[in-house]
Amino acid sequence: MAAELIEVTGMVLTASPVKEYDKRIELLTKERGRISAFVTGARRVNSAVSACAIPFTFGTYRLYEGRSSYNVQSAQIKKFFAGIADDFDTLCYASYFAELARYFTRENVEAPDELLLLYVACSAMTRGKISLPLVRVIYEMRMMQIEGEALELFQCLGCKTSQGNLRVYFSRGGFLCDSCAAKFMSEQREKGYRLSPDAVYALQFIVTTPLERLFTFRVSEQIEKELSEFMTHYYEHYLHHTFQSLAFLESLPY
Ligand SMILES: [Zn+2]
Repeated sequence: MAAELIEVTGMVLTASPVKEYDKRIELLTKERGRISAFVTGARRVNSAVSACAIPFTFGTYRLYEGRSSYNVQSAQIKKFFAGIADDFDTLCYASYFAELARYFTRENVEAPDELLLLYVACSAMTRGKISLPLVRVIYEMRMMQIEGEALELFQCLGCKTSQGNLRVYFSRGGFLCDSCAAKFMSEQREKGYRLSPDAVYALQFIVTTPLERLFTFRVSEQIEKELSEFMTHYYEHYLHHTFQSLAFLESLPY
């Protein structure tokens, strides 16, 4: 039976050399989630397909579906983020975003939101209007929401009040007021994470704004720091995974 030709919209997450002239890429696709594909001749000089095998390239890929992997027949590149590879800091962040996207996606589970989030994050980084650490906060927060791990940050999980002293209890999945915390958390050691009103507002914006308009706000340096620290606690609580690319990120002077 001849291999079937399919068309997908996607972005290259990783690329590695295979044999003398080929590459294997991991593609985050809207239709089929994260798939791996071979690009024959990608490393040949003047190859027509070499550009489509570079990380963070976005486009329409025509693939032959083989028994255990795909082969790229051709690609129509719609966006190539040249600014990513040119700047070491941006590349470190982008690599971490790609690694997070890899962690949360798999083959044959469509990933339109993850793909769009990665795309708009790459666009925001190359435009350079908001800081890289803030792009990271937004990306991480929104990714958790896409994956169904969002925190309740609008009202108390117990009594539904949005007034008074609300703190985040990661083990409960969001805000609790003081009296609900006393009721529910009496036997647990979790103290509750206090966020400033500006930080709460920023996080609420991140989980409610359409993806296309997500990277349009800025915060003070102090709030950015507060949000970054909060995300670190949030991720430590929910994801017990060491991301390789974080080692590079943590070596950056922020
Ligand atoms: Zn309450």
